[in-house]
Amino acid sequence: MTNNGRIDIKGLWIEDLEKIFSIWGEPAFRAKQTATWIYSKGVSSFEQMTNLTKEFRRRLSEQYTLSTLRLVKTQQSERDKSVKFLFQLSDGETIESVLIRDKGKNTVCISAQVGCPLGCLFCATGYMGYKRNLTAGEIVDQILSVRPHIYQKEILNNVVYMGMGEPLLNYANVVKSLKILTSDYGVCVSPRRITLSTAGVVPEIYRLADEGVKVKLAISLHAADQELRKKLMPVTNKHSLKELLEAAKYYAKKVGHRVTFEYILIRGVNDSEKQAKLLARAVANIPCKINLIMYNPIPDAPFERPTLELAQKFREILYPRTPAVTLRISKGVDIAAACGQLKTKVYKKQKQVDFDRVLPLTGSN
Ligand code: SF4
Repeated sequence: MTNNGRIDIKGLWIEDLEKIFSIWGEPAFRAKQTATWIYSKGVSSFEQMTNLTKEFRRRLSEQYTLSTLRLVKTQQSERDKSVKFLFQLSDGETIESVLIRDKGKNTVCISAQVGCPLGCLFCATGYMGYKRNLTAGEIVDQILSVRPHIYQKEILNNVVYMGMGEPLLNYANVVKSLKILTSDYGVCVSPRRITLSTAGVVPEIYRLADEGVKVKLAISLHAADQELRKKLMPVTNKHSLKELLEAAKYYAKKVGHRVTFEYILIRGVNDSEKQAKLLARAVANIPCKINLIMYNPIPDAPFERPTLELAQKFREILYPRTPAVTLRISKGVDIAAACGQLKTKVYKKQKQVDFDRVLPLTGSN
């Protein structure tokens, strides 16, 4: 992003800063000092970087901006005190982040794109269409902006790339943001505490496995047969379920973490006994765990949440065929915590989905 010809310094990383400062004739440690101020201390102006010389700060401010997200709206859950944030970017676009509070543990859920091009039928963000990728700075800034809202004496425990957008379609910026988040000079979060969620962009799963960043991978599966998944998640037309499962296996082996399969239970769509057995069979040879999530209804989508009884039955069919299965009741239902829901509440919906075209979603039920 540029502002009056100046580049945003947030999003540049050590290697970038070292190159720039060496051209300026500055010692290599300036890059680490500057990065520490931006990401670790989270300052909002160059003037606050007090261990840098005045001359150096002046030069920085002449050539760079130090952007911060503008907070438009927050919503706090009455039930669990989770907080949803709507942030405005420098070009006026908006994105969502969520601080999930759970028994003293804090997880921040961040967005990777403005909107999303993948159009999953059950997802509010999918209805907005796609605007643009976030820069690495905008991705990291969500953490820096939410971090001050964590209660005193508590820490940031986990980061999940599960907000708006498909992270693997913004590969370069997401990987740079991961490097910033996991470094000592950055935000200092262990890669084991970071989970990146994908709808199934298969080639980039292999690329990420080989990248060396070693974060955990979650795959939004939501159907265990190709035809039903194609209807629910159009990305399956490009990357088949079979290819996706092979990529998941490769990732688990290469990185050494189990893959998590997320499975949103939608009443009468993918919650049958037959679907549960198909799911158990599909993941049988993959080091994994399965998170079952009760569907969180969104306005205008013709889907319903199953009863708790049905969801528990689905889980019982999976277990012990699949040893690690959890059933999650979505946090923050009262604050519309699924991605895209606060934005669609504040801004008018931009894309209509023709449900008659894709329904009924019978799949293999
Ligand atoms: S679920 Fe994820 S990949 Fe699918 S439309 Fe929503 S944001 Fe995009």
